[in-house]
Amino acid sequence: MDDKGREERIRDFREWEYSLEGIHNALGELCRPCSSDVLTRTIFKLPRDVQDSIFKERPFFILAEGEYGFYFRECFPPNEEEVFRDFIFISLKHDQTEEFKQETVAHEIAHFMLKHGGGGPEVERAAADLTEKWGFGRT
Ligand SMILES: [Zn+2]
Repeated sequence: MDDKGREERIRDFREWEYSLEGIHNALGELCRPCSSDVLTRTIFKLPRDVQDSIFKERPFFILAEGEYGFYFRECFPPNEEEVFRDFIFISLKHDQTEEFKQETVAHEIAHFMLKHGGGGPEVERAAADLTEKWGFGRT
């Protein structure tokens, strides 16, 4: 057994996990519909520790056509105790720019990272600050 070759293959795989293809692959089971390239491209641009949280905590992404997004944390499946799952609901419109769409996705991921339980101006400001820190604009 060539241990160096094995270590290199593991390292290659670890790097691949953070590539566009790797992120798209990981999202396959976390997202409905799973064909969202904008979600993949946004997560690709996020800091590594945020990517790790997404892969580890496995929030469920729900994408829809519309203007709003939200994040919530709920028992899943329902009625089972202490089995919580994060849901990130993202609405995007076809005519929005790629930049605006990525900003919206990043903003909802910021709510997830900050574990926001409700709304309000302070919560929105905190999410917008984090989104901006990651290099996206402010919605
Ligand atoms: Zn928000």
